[in-house]
Amino acid sequence: MTNRIFNFSAGPCTLPVSALEKAQKDFVDYQGAGMSLIEMSHRDKPYDAVHRDAINNVKEILNVPEDFEVMFIQGGATLQFAMIAMNFLGNGKVGEYVNTGAWAKKAISDGKKVGEIRVIWTDEENNFMRMPKPEEIKFSSDAAFVHMCGNETIGGIEFNDYPDTGDVPLIVDMSSHIMSRPIDFNKIDMVYGGAQKNLGPAGMAIVIMRKSLIEKGNDNVPAYLSYKIHAKNESLYNTPPVFTIYMMKLTTDWVKETGGLKAMQELAMARSNALYDVIDNSDGWYRCPVEKESRSRMNVVWRLPSEDLEKKFIAEALAAGFSGLKGHRSVGGCRASMYNAMPTQGATKLAEFMIEFKKNN
Ligand SMILES: *Cc1c(COP(=O)(O)O)cnc(C)c1O
Repeated sequence: MTNRIFNFSAGPCTLPVSALEKAQKDFVDYQGAGMSLIEMSHRDKPYDAVHRDAINNVKEILNVPEDFEVMFIQGGATLQFAMIAMNFLGNGKVGEYVNTGAWAKKAISDGKKVGEIRVIWTDEENNFMRMPKPEEIKFSSDAAFVHMCGNETIGGIEFNDYPDTGDVPLIVDMSSHIMSRPIDFNKIDMVYGGAQKNLGPAGMAIVIMRKSLIEKGNDNVPAYLSYKIHAKNESLYNTPPVFTIYMMKLTTDWVKETGGLKAMQELAMARSNALYDVIDNSDGWYRCPVEKESRSRMNVVWRLPSEDLEKKFIAEALAAGFSGLKGHRSVGGCRASMYNAMPTQGATKLAEFMIEFKKNN
């Protein structure tokens, strides 16, 4: 095989090699059709099968109940920030938001432009070092929805326990940890995420929504921005991002072959524990700024004793075959993003490298 290095990029990110190779093999002549999948009509049989397989894989792996719809919508998770507000706000309805960091803030910012919103919890004064406990989230019984971000990709914090919001729809941005742990669809009414972290390449969001919530959507939104229209047309209202959905099918095939959600969850624990163990056993030389109970299994963030050492660490790690370890430009430090397709070896080898680096410095 070619030279694949360990890619810790926050997104787009590493994908299963088997999925990449399958796509390469079938790329020019898709299963004897005489043309590539990305050249044929999205209404033709070969693409139709891919579309349905991708949806069915998601339903099967995540145990999606019958009364939920799985939709593929272009514009990434970012467009969902606006779409949620456009579909569910207006006419005096108020959306309530939990502010846990950079991504929650972007959802809040777009929500505000479209309708009336309220921030019901924030940890901004402490630089977002933890997720709230369920009982800290005080929502109103007449809120249009409660919105939260399940895993703050930049801050490196992750929700472990969601509040029970009863009749108020709970909407969660799971962009950076979808399909790495079970989803409690009794509590959660809408899950969304950009595809390019755990599910495939960039180009769309996956949206899983309770059908009764879809029905509550406003009717005066433009066609592409209406959940009702996407649901009614099974995500084929217009030309879908064919290649992204195809790669998602191949990636989710790999998830099933690897042992499904249970395996993804165990692998995520093994990878993140490998790094947190090094950090916790370094006598404070490596330091994770995040509160322990909120540590993300997907995006591990840490600091070194100085910014110079951080620069040196990132450069030497890259030379040793570990790329993408620079923290987000807004917070600095180091970050290892380890989504589903990151091999366990990537984490254990990086852990060894961290121990060596500390010894030498
Ligand atoms: C990456 C990310 C987004 C943005 O996703 P796009 O598909 O690039 O729009 C939103 N929320 C979270 C939590 C993310 O990690």
